[in-house]
Amino acid sequence: MLRRTKILATLGPATDKPGVLEGMFAAGLDFVRMNFSHGSAQDHINRANAVRELSLKTGRLVGILADLQGPKIRIARFKDTKVFLHEGQNFALDINFDPMAGDNTQVGITYEPLALEVKPGSRLLLDDGRIVLDVVNVENMRVNCTVIVGGDLSNNKGINLLGGGLSAAALTDKDKEDIKTIAIMKCDYVAISFPRTAEDLHEARRLLVAEGCHAGIVSKVERAEALDVIDEIILASDAVMVARGDLGVEIGDANLPAVQKMLIKRTRELNRVAITATQMMESMIDNPIPTRAEVFDVANAVYDGTDVIMLSAETASGKHPIKAIEAMNRVCIEAEKQPKVRVSGHRVELQFERVDEAIAMSAMYLANHTKIHGIAALTESGSTTLWMSRISSGIPIFALSPHPETLGKVTLYRGVFPVLFIHDLSDHDEVNRAIIAELKRRGVAVEGDTFIITQGDREGIAGGTNALKVITVGQNNSLNL
Ligand code: PGA
Ligand code: MN
Repeated sequence: MLRRTKILATLGPATDKPGVLEGMFAAGLDFVRMNFSHGSAQDHINRANAVRELSLKTGRLVGILADLQGPKIRIARFKDTKVFLHEGQNFALDINFDPMAGDNTQVGITYEPLALEVKPGSRLLLDDGRIVLDVVNVENMRVNCTVIVGGDLSNNKGINLLGGGLSAAALTDKDKEDIKTIAIMKCDYVAISFPRTAEDLHEARRLLVAEGCHAGIVSKVERAEALDVIDEIILASDAVMVARGDLGVEIGDANLPAVQKMLIKRTRELNRVAITATQMMESMIDNPIPTRAEVFDVANAVYDGTDVIMLSAETASGKHPIKAIEAMNRVCIEAEKQPKVRVSGHRVELQFERVDEAIAMSAMYLANHTKIHGIAALTESGSTTLWMSRISSGIPIFALSPHPETLGKVTLYRGVFPVLFIHDLSDHDEVNRAIIAELKRRGVAVEGDTFIITQGDREGIAGGTNALKVITVGQNNSLNL
C-alpha cells in the first residue's frame, strides 16, 4: 500500500554522515527541510544538490523546503556558555549589555524593541518555555525580571512573550539575503517564520518572485495573533504549518490539540496543504524507537487530516534519523487503514465555479463510490490534484506532469504521487496507453485494475482539465490499454 501522508525531514549534521540520506530515501522520505536558522548558505546548497542527485539516482522524487529563520527573538551569549537560574532570583535582559558576556544576573538580547513591548507583569518564556521570567520593570531599555521557573540557560536560546504581541516584522535582513540563495537553489517551497498577517506572506512572495523564484509559500503558524486572522493567512499561503514549538509557548501547550485540529480542517477547506510539526518523535533524538505517546501523536495527526508530518532535530541532529522515518512510515500506514480517514463529507454542499475543479471533485466522488484502483491526472500546474487530495480517500492520485516544478509541489499533497510524464503524442488513445504503460512500469497498475484518467482536450494549458475517463487495464480491447 502506498503511504498517503507525507514525511518531511529536516536536514542537518546528522544527515550529512555517509549513507544516511540514502537510508532516509529508502525509508520513505518525501520532502526535506533546510533550516536557515542553522548552517551556512553553502551547507544548504550542498544538501540540496545531494537530494537532487539521489532523486535522479533512485527515481524517488524528494522535494525541498527552505525554512527562513524569521524574527526569532533570542538572548545573546554567556561568558561561560551557560548559567543556572534559581527560582525567585533577579535576572535582566539588556539590549545594551555586551552580547558575549552574560552571567547569572543578566544577558544581552538581539531584539531592540523588547523593552518597549513588555510591561511589569508580562511573562517571558525562554528555551521553548523551560525557563519562565516575569517582568518587574523596565529601566533604560533594560528588562528586569524575576525567575519563576529556573534551570539551565545556555547561549542564544529563544524568547517568547506569553499571549504574543511582539511586533517584529516577519522578514529580517538575513531572511532577505537567504531568499537570494533559495532562488538559486530552486526550492519547491519556502517557509516564512512568525508571520503576523497575510501581508507578511505577500511580501515574501513578492521578494521571491523578484528573484525569479515561484516556490510555494508555507506560513508557520507560531504567533498567537496569527490565529486572529487565520483565514487571510491560510489564503495567502500554499501550505500552513502547525508550528507547535513556538505556538505552544505563546498560547499554552494545553491549547495546542484543539488549535491543531482547527488549523488542519480549515486549511483543507480552503484548498491549502497542512503540515504538522515539532516533537512528533522527539524521544528518537536519543532512542531507536518512539514512545507510545509519539506513536499516538503521529496517528492522531493522520486522523486530523494532515498532509505532512515533520521531523526536526530527530533527523537533523538525532542519533537515529533513518529509524525516525521508518517509525513514522509504519504508523501512518496503519493509521491510514482506518475507514474514517477514507471517507469525506467535504464540500458536498458546494457549487464549483471552475470546470477543472468540478472534474476533480467528480473524479473523487466516482473513486470513493465505485471500485477504482487509482486516479491518473494529467496536470500542468498541479491544481487538479490539489483539489482531489482535499477529499479524504484511500485511492492513490498520480500526478503526471512534464514540469519538475509541478512535481515538486504535488509531492507535499496527501495521497498524491508525482510521476514525470513527457510525451509528444497527439492522439488521446495513445496518450492513455502511455499513461497506463507508465503506471504498469512503476508497478502501481496491473491487468484488470480500473483507473480514472483526467485530462484536458488541449494539453499544455493550465486549468484546461475538462475530461474524465474510466479505463480498465488490459480489458478494453478497442483501446488495448
Ligand atoms: P522551528 O519552527 O522548528 O523553526 O522553530 C517550528 C515550530 O516552532 O514548531
Ligand atoms: Mn518555530
